[in-house]
Parts: sequence; structure tokens; C-alpha cells
Amino acid sequence: MDFLVLFLFYVAFVLIGVVTICVCSKAHYLKVLVGVAAQIISHIIPECLQRAMLKLLHYLFHTRNHTFVILHLLLQGMVYAEYTWEIFGYCQELGFSLCYLLLPYLLLGINLVFFMLSCVSNPGTITKANEFLFLQVYEFDDVVFPKNTKCFTCNVRRPARSKHCRVCNRCVHRFDHHCVWVNNCIGAWNARYFLIYLLTLTASAATMATVSTVFLVQLVALSDLYLETYVDDLGHLQVVDIVFLIQYLFLTLPRIVFMLGFVVMLSFLLGGYLCFTLYLAATNQTTNEWYRGDRAWCRHCPHGAWPPSAAPQVYRNIHSHGLWSNLGELFLPATAHGAKKMN
Ligand SMILES: [Zn+2]
Ligand SMILES: [Zn+2]
Repeated sequence: MDFLVLFLFYVAFVLIGVVTICVCSKAHYLKVLVGVAAQIISHIIPECLQRAMLKLLHYLFHTRNHTFVILHLLLQGMVYAEYTWEIFGYCQELGFSLCYLLLPYLLLGINLVFFMLSCVSNPGTITKANEFLFLQVYEFDDVVFPKNTKCFTCNVRRPARSKHCRVCNRCVHRFDHHCVWVNNCIGAWNARYFLIYLLTLTASAATMATVSTVFLVQLVALSDLYLETYVDDLGHLQVVDIVFLIQYLFLTLPRIVFMLGFVVMLSFLLGGYLCFTLYLAATNQTTNEWYRGDRAWCRHCPHGAWPPSAAPQVYRNIHSHGLWSNLGELFLPATAHGAKKMN
């Protein structure tokens, strides 16, 4: 009982944490929360340790490195090893359909192809040679992307919807975000690979969670365990319930139940992120635009209010031209050779 309660608390804590971060990042409370957390940590942790932590965080999140790519492959390898080693064999003995059991491997194959493409493909780096062509692709909205601005680091004129990535030190066309899991920027030319990668990763986690759950349910059904009784701590005879069954399975098949807990949590987190990414794709927005959109007007007026003479310039998504057109633009982006004026 203690284990199950702790595990449920842990899952709830992670899910609430992720939802809070998502809500706060849009409501601009995230910086305040991070500031408060940093102040608390500075009182608890010694200064030398704080410096080491900052160096590590800088290395992990502000430099291009393969740490998260290796971690990603390691976790994926461990989950698939456990699936192959235990679940696949048991399920075959129980007469599961082979197509059903091979589905996670098919998804893994597709996922690894698009993972590699997301990692190594050019996201749409803006150079002196192609800046003019990129400048033709999107219209400037004069709110988030004003005309005639320059990136002095790359020495190029900034096309609309582009951004300088501080991690990669380059300007990227239709910049979405820098993803540490693929160690690359997500931009105009690899956003389609990233979307399919995310889709197959979510599908493989959900498929594995479903196969593992069905396997455990069948195991319980075949063993008639749910018809048994047990004596509790107070010496009372109790009928086996769901909580008892989960604890029993964890004690007898710990690796499978632990893996199931992990893939279930992953399915929810990835599923939520996939929905958000699909929403952005359907509305022709990038994460960068979604984040910067409603704070764009603040940049023009430091006091948070517009001068009486000036009309407030609220950010408006001018790039959305309907669902199919938006998806078409994502999957068939304008290349440097075929750049054309959208809208
Ligand atoms: Zn730049
Ligand atoms: Zn980057």
C-alpha cells in the first residue's frame, strides 16, 4: 500500500509540475517561479556546489552536446530490451497476435529514421548566400518580426519568422525551438521530421503501455488471483482488490510493472506535447511565435501601456491560410531555390 501511494504521488507530482510549467510559461510567471526557486537553493546549497551546478546546466542546455541524445537512446534501448526479454516471450506463450507484438518494433524503426533526420538535417540556416531568398518567403508583421533588422552575430538581414539560436550560434528560418533531445534546432526544413518523430515516439510508448497492460490483465485473469482472499495487518480476511493486485504484480514482476509505469507516464507527457505541436502546425505557428506573441507589444512600451497617440499593435497570426495549406507548408517548406512569397 505504501509503495502504491508513493508511486501515485510521484506520477501526480510530475504531471502537475509539467502542466504548471506549461501554464506559467504562457502567463509569464515562470521567471518569477525560477527566481524564487534559485533564491531558496542559494540558501541551502554551498557556493562551490552552486557554481558547479551552473556550469553543468550551462553545458547541458546552452552548448551543443550529445548528452540528451545518448540518454534518449539509452532509455529507449532499456525499454525495448525489457519488452523483448520478458513481455514478448510471455505474450507469445499466451497466444497474442504476432502483428500486435511486432507493432512497437515497426514504430521504433520509423522513429529512429526520423530521429536521425531531426538530428542531422539542416533546420534552415540563414547565410549571406541565401538570406535574400529567405527574405522573400514570409511577410513581416511589424510586431514580433519588424522589417530591416539585422543579426550582427551572423551578419545577415533577419527574414520574418527567423531567430538566432544562441546554442547553435546561427540564425534559423522559421525557428521553432532548440531541442536538446535531438541536439539541433527545429526550423523550416526539419519541423516535418520532428513532428513524425514525436508522433511515432508517442505511438510506440502508447502501444507498449497497451500491450503490457493487456498482458498483465490476462495474467491475472488466467491465474484466478482476483478470486482469492488475504489476511490484512489487523488480521481481517479481505477479498483481493485492485490495489492488492498491483502490489502483488510489482513484487512478482517488478521490471515489467516499473516499465509499464514509465511508459504510461511518458505516453501522457508525449501525448500532451504532441497535441500542442499539432495545434501549432494546424494554425501555422512556431513555439517561438506562440511564446512571444502576446508579449510582443511590451517591447514597444517599457511601461506596459501604449502612448495615447499610438494605436496598440497586437500580435496577429498572419501566416495561417487554412488547415491543409498550413500542413502543406510544414511538410513541403519553401527551399532556398524555390523560395516564394507566401500570402
Ligand atoms: Zn544570427
Ligand atoms: Zn539551435
